Amino acid sequence: MAKVPRMVGIDLGTTNSLVAHFADGKPVVLATESGETLTPSAVALAEDGTVLVGRAARDRLVTAPDSGRAFFKRDMGTPATYKFGGRKWTPVECSALVLREMKRIAELRLGQPVESAVITVPAYFLDQQRQATVEAAQIAGLKVERLLNEPTAAALAYGYRNDGELNTLLVFDLGGGTFDVTLLESFDGIIEVKASAGESRLGGEDYTEALMEALIRKHEWRPEPAQRIRFREQIEKVKRALTTEMSTRITMGDQDIEVTRKDFGEATHELTMRLRPVVRRCLRDAQLTAKQLDGVLLVGGASRMPVIGAVLLDELDMEPNRSLDPDRVVALGAAVQQALCVRNEAVRELVLTDVCPHSLGVEVSKIVSNQVHDGYFSPIIDRNTTVPLSRSETYNTLHPEQDFIVLKIYQGESRMVRENQKIGEVKVGGLRHRPGQTRPGQVDVRFSYDMNGILEVEVTILHSETKVAEVFEQRPGTMTKAEIAEAIARLRPLKVHPRDSAPNRALLERAGRLWSDLKGVDREVLTMLIDKFERALASQLPEHISSASAELTDFVRPYFQQEE
Ligand code: AMP
Repeated sequence: MAKVPRMVGIDLGTTNSLVAHFADGKPVVLATESGETLTPSAVALAEDGTVLVGRAARDRLVTAPDSGRAFFKRDMGTPATYKFGGRKWTPVECSALVLREMKRIAELRLGQPVESAVITVPAYFLDQQRQATVEAAQIAGLKVERLLNEPTAAALAYGYRNDGELNTLLVFDLGGGTFDVTLLESFDGIIEVKASAGESRLGGEDYTEALMEALIRKHEWRPEPAQRIRFREQIEKVKRALTTEMSTRITMGDQDIEVTRKDFGEATHELTMRLRPVVRRCLRDAQLTAKQLDGVLLVGGASRMPVIGAVLLDELDMEPNRSLDPDRVVALGAAVQQALCVRNEAVRELVLTDVCPHSLGVEVSKIVSNQVHDGYFSPIIDRNTTVPLSRSETYNTLHPEQDFIVLKIYQGESRMVRENQKIGEVKVGGLRHRPGQTRPGQVDVRFSYDMNGILEVEVTILHSETKVAEVFEQRPGTMTKAEIAEAIARLRPLKVHPRDSAPNRALLERAGRLWSDLKGVDREVLTMLIDKFERALASQLPEHISSASAELTDFVRPYFQQEE
């Protein structure tokens, strides 16, 4: 009997990705063969050309930064490319490799093929970025059942247990590269998102950068590029240490310096100040005051920083709820959504409504004192309206003789389109319906925004009732069907490490990374253990591999404990 394909929930994160599924009435995060649930969102090529994904890739990037890439989520939906292994890679291809690894982990754990997924995206993600995520999934062989906004996923993870009480919650999500705030109400199994606000380029990594730059400036240090990369790694550890300690030490060139929580606070003050207006804007959009909140949920690794608790106490007079692990909550919510998609009995009573996080509209011209002024934004859908929805507006041509318009579609909150984000255009002809007409032509522009945050545009010429365009004619940055097929073909022959050697590869990369940190006797011992492990791998004898792997792991692990 053929096994039924399964659906899973995936948190495709800037720093780490996770895969989860819903079983026995609750969401569960799935682990790799070495027991890890967080897979770094990193891709690199090993020396022999093998594609490394996850921890192995991240470790390789420390010793060979040009061998691959991390943080590509920040470039999704843009034309950015990276060069490694002798060719160009797009952010979509890199994400596809991470998604393929998520699919692999799920299939390994569930023992069934996995063909579809709920994938989470930041609420602020624009149309192109959502499309890019869908494309990455297609390349990885996954059908996207639903794109779910990350903060909404977090709310689902907390709120799927129906406790019959009205709860107004604020979700504060500060990840590696992104910041989102969402307000929602949950009552008797109905979770209603009221408003979302965010900053697309603000996250834990900016805190790391800011501390690094401040220390380099203060101590007038001029690191070489390689020293800089290693220093950043250390700063990441310092940042995490300062979450629990008041001070810690770091080596900078030949200086050993103390870094206190106060130093960190000062170096990152500007970043922290940018968090507050987003919280306020979200409350304003939801027409709520801080006093009406019942709780604050934290999501994203960077929300662990003590300064976040302080900001929330100050802004909202409330201590955040830390009952779920901020690294896992989005993936858990994706699994709850997966259960909703397959109508799992355990979530039968649950209903979720979400909002469209940005205003969407078209460019219009205005006639002021007989002069035409271009470039104004006319919203058709206002931000934070409940989705799915469909709304239309009527527009006139500027002159009765005008036969043609190019409708430019934008997303954003500025009155002028140049400050908003263009997401496409639709060309419409046939507006001049008879010669010598005195009235301008009219079109009805209908925007339909679905639960995945993807927009469809339909333009109707009113005098003839003809529908001119059903979807965008042009979506910058998106791939055609042929391009997706080509990307699949390009990634297929890549020798991704064979299933059983995935943890072995990761261990070797990790050991290689540690080797460059160590000196003297420690380095010699490590060399011996690595050699032994490599010999065991070459022998292909499972008992040799597992004993050499255990010895090497025992040696390596203590050095990385803080990171895990
Ligand atoms: P995410 O994208 O949700 O995986 O968030 C990752 C970010 O959280 C990275 O910038 C990490 O440096 C940061 N992070 C993780 N753990 C901690 C911690 N204990 N203290 C401070 N920042 C952390």
